[in-house]
Amino acid sequence: MPARTAFVTGAARGIGAATAARLAEDGCAVAVVDLDPDAAVLAAGKINAAGGTAIGIGCDVSDETQVDDAVARTVADLGSLDVLVNNAGVLRDNLLFKMSVDDWDTVLAVHLRGAFLCSRAAQKHMVHNRSGAIVNTSSVSALGNRGQANYAAAKAGIQGLTRTLAMELGPFGIRVNAVAPGFIATEMTAATAERMGLSAEDLQAKTAEITPLRRVGTPADIANVVAFLASDDAGFVTGQTLYVDGGRRL
Ligand code: NAP
Repeated sequence: MPARTAFVTGAARGIGAATAARLAEDGCAVAVVDLDPDAAVLAAGKINAAGGTAIGIGCDVSDETQVDDAVARTVADLGSLDVLVNNAGVLRDNLLFKMSVDDWDTVLAVHLRGAFLCSRAAQKHMVHNRSGAIVNTSSVSALGNRGQANYAAAKAGIQGLTRTLAMELGPFGIRVNAVAPGFIATEMTAATAERMGLSAEDLQAKTAEITPLRRVGTPADIANVVAFLASDDAGFVTGQTLYVDGGRRL
């Protein structure tokens, strides 16, 4: 049985899938948690086929009962919960005057309420073990981004949540940090390109031109940093938000 257990939300694809796979390579048993149960089971199957240990769980992170059940199942099936990665996310971009209440509520519910619910459910087990690591997912958009009032507010909120949970949970040996990605090539940014009338490749090329490192990020770029923040190598790091953006702020 692997030494640590990780619970990664939004892990059926994109950054979450890369993070789940990387944590499995690092020796974690992984709960691959996603809205779509079939996609979660499929992604967990890939980790198992590669020699890791994973289970797939369907769960809407904005639903209190589903989150509590998913955490309970992880502990029952995999034996513990040592690492939580709050990664699940959605976009509902619009300028303020066109943004519906539903656009606002959906984004705040998945990113911020989801991170709150998963952290609250996970900390019970971590406090009991006097050990744990939580890695939240912020964004460069936390600094403000036109058309993303909902998303920017949620991602800035994640940074406040991160620092506060670091203060509350530190005395129990639990570290809480956040990663703030810049432009990462995933289905999320491909959908943004489509909304802008561009191909995913064209938007990536334009973004690379204005990024100091002259490329966009990959899911593995974020997974590597999450793996570090979740590991004992980051044993004295807590309350931090680490920007992983190739040097480009919005
Ligand atoms: P993605 O490809 O769209 O993947 C997001 C995953 O989250 C999907 O599998 C999605 O499931 C799942 N999800 C959505 N709502 C959920 C819910 N209520 N409960 C559980 N799972 C849910 O996105 P990504 O690009 O990998 O982004 C991952 C995280 O990084 C997000 O928090 C995002 O805001 C953040 N981020 C991304 C970028 C970027 O450039 N890509 C930059 C900064 C920050 P379904 O497919 O079933 O909807």
